[in-house]
Amino acid sequence: MTNEIVDEMRSVVSEIKNQLKFYKDIGLDDIGSPLASESAPTAASKPSIILRPEQIEEPQFQSARIVEASVPAPGISSGQPDSPGVSAGLFGESVTEPSHKTVTRRAVSLPVLESRDSSLEVIRDDIGNCTRCRLHEHRTTIVFGEGDPNARLVFVGEGPGAEEDASGRPFVGRAGQLLDKIIMAIGMKRQDVYIANIVKCRPPGNRTPERDEVDTCEPFLLRQLAFIHPEVIVALGSPAFQCLLRTREPITKARGHWRDWNGVRVMPTFHPAFLLRSPEKKREVWEDMKMVRDYLNEKAE
Ligand code: URA
Repeated sequence: MTNEIVDEMRSVVSEIKNQLKFYKDIGLDDIGSPLASESAPTAASKPSIILRPEQIEEPQFQSARIVEASVPAPGISSGQPDSPGVSAGLFGESVTEPSHKTVTRRAVSLPVLESRDSSLEVIRDDIGNCTRCRLHEHRTTIVFGEGDPNARLVFVGEGPGAEEDASGRPFVGRAGQLLDKIIMAIGMKRQDVYIANIVKCRPPGNRTPERDEVDTCEPFLLRQLAFIHPEVIVALGSPAFQCLLRTREPITKARGHWRDWNGVRVMPTFHPAFLLRSPEKKREVWEDMKMVRDYLNEKAE
């Protein structure tokens, strides 16, 4: 065997070791096959963005035009079962409990988005030095979101914590470090994705954002999502999932099941902060993230 081949083999082995160490670091020891590099998603492979018009006239959010119903793609549950049990939704609507296996019509009306924004900067400018809700009273910095404006994958969290409030960047504290590892575990980097929250100011004491705060801030998130028009949104934790999908379904039931949001696939999963408290749940998040990885890989082929 030539020295070159030996060197090559050594470097491959060392790369695999690094990868395995990394999986171990985040508590994953049964990882299956890593992201196939030849089919790894790239910005270039992203299909055209249907929500973004060529000409932007007014940088205004098209607030919730209500859809009667829409039929998601095969394999995606829209949240309505064949034999529904009905409960009251977070947004006052009637919500049916999903079976997770059926492909049915949407139970809850979601806003239909038409992006009229020419850039994420326009949306940020519209937020300005926001005082629209009480969260502004205690915040240090507005945490708008960051990442690739052409991202195929967007993560949506709940709201900034102390580190995010201080730095103005989403997911930079302990939960953020875990999120970075989760992103790397599916063969991507933080800068490949976009990361945002349902509220852009830190709720005091990291409490869950209240309904009126979410209602006030959500239009900006929806504009961001409509502009980016990712292929997958990962909803991190109950508030993000329930806000996006207009449901009260618990994340424990929803996680691991594709949902549809304006034709974009949504994968609900546990929030990294929850994983820090309950590390045994990392395996479930890994299962969810493998589905995300595989879907993005398949689409890129
Ligand atoms: N938790 C969130 O939901 N978002 C952040 O940005 C940080 C922590």
